[in-house]
Amino acid sequence: MRTLLSGGVVVTCDQNWTVYTDGDVVLEDDLILYAGPRYDGEYDARVSAAGRIVMPGLINAHTHTPMTLFRGLADDVALRVFLEERVWPREIKLTNADAYAGSVLAATEMLKAGVTTYVDMYFFEDALVQAALDTGLRAVVTPGILEAPVWQPILGTWEQRTARVLAFCRQWDGHDGRIHTGLGPHAPYTLPLPALGEIAVEAQRAGLPLHIHLVETREEREAFAERGLGSTVSALEQLGVFEGAVLAAHCVWLDDGDAEVLRHHRVGVAHCPISNAKLGAGIAPAVALLAAGIPVGLGTDGAATNNSLDLWEELKVAPLLSKVAASDPTVLSALQALAMATRLGAMAIHQPRLGVLAEGYKADVLTLRLDDPAMVPLFGEQTYMDHLVYAAGRSLVDAVWVNGRQVVRNGMVLTVDEEATRHAAQRAAEAVSERVAR
Ligand SMILES: [Zn+2]
Repeated sequence: MRTLLSGGVVVTCDQNWTVYTDGDVVLEDDLILYAGPRYDGEYDARVSAAGRIVMPGLINAHTHTPMTLFRGLADDVALRVFLEERVWPREIKLTNADAYAGSVLAATEMLKAGVTTYVDMYFFEDALVQAALDTGLRAVVTPGILEAPVWQPILGTWEQRTARVLAFCRQWDGHDGRIHTGLGPHAPYTLPLPALGEIAVEAQRAGLPLHIHLVETREEREAFAERGLGSTVSALEQLGVFEGAVLAAHCVWLDDGDAEVLRHHRVGVAHCPISNAKLGAGIAPAVALLAAGIPVGLGTDGAATNNSLDLWEELKVAPLLSKVAASDPTVLSALQALAMATRLGAMAIHQPRLGVLAEGYKADVLTLRLDDPAMVPLFGEQTYMDHLVYAAGRSLVDAVWVNGRQVVRNGMVLTVDEEATRHAAQRAAEAVSERVAR
């Protein structure tokens, strides 16, 4: 099946920032066959992209989809209080059906914002994968592994949990060409250190990526240092954690020399500027990481610390916060931000065939309406990309394709009943609250 998206402003997000102001994109099955000036080959279906930007789907490099059920229930508190007092007591009362309802809600919200790929770390992994399959997104599902007393009855020991997660990955990795898997050891403070090393070895043996929270708060860094362990990053390096493909979320409180370790091991970083700001965790050194050549993507984190899954907000806030931190408007450009949401995000999550409109890349594409006051005036190629970062937003997303399949048309999700999705999530959230109150 060959679909022509014709006559749009094609923002490829390639290395050279190529833009075709009157361009075509051709999708053939799950791949992009062509992106360039007008196409004169054959096709099966044609969709007009006139008056629209055509660009790669956005990549949400770090989230926890079922946490949409906790949106608004853990605001304005520190991370420790957030986890131990607000979130964990609810999470242990969740059922598989609740997690599914929350995950479908999250995927629906992301689709409407033009997110085509997300990296998910949570429990109830069967629900996570089912939600991705049913909504049509591309997902990297990395089931969480942690050891905390409250979780022990549900997850068992970290060894038992790791074995279960590995079996899940064996079952689902590569499914339907859009389900990818990995291991999600939660954080260095929720697992014994030797466990982190052993989980990493298992991931490397299986050829799977590792997804971990890393130095998110100052409190976390200091607690680690007080144990006489020095820098978290160097301790993990010595354990061999970075020998395989690793995606590290946050990286706000890096020590001197840590960026070099991350660069050396090609660790990808998920920068979550809004979640970090909301928790008062700080501003990750995105400028320094990018300058070091580290692939940095953008993540929303879960909906309880953001509170939306609207990656357009990260796209704007990431450069703004870096400018504020440096008192310098030149340190992080709109193009660098756009790269983090697309091409660099793909590198960060170890899916290098995403995030660019060019032949051979995956057919994950969005179109965005230009008939909006916020998109005027336009002065050529650069302003299209500047407007995407500083002026556009999810309300302008018009159509979305994932793996070659159209999943959003006229801003409406085609794969799920949006109203039923909202009601199911509302009911699940209420049921969890009732169980916690009992
Ligand atoms: Zn997180």
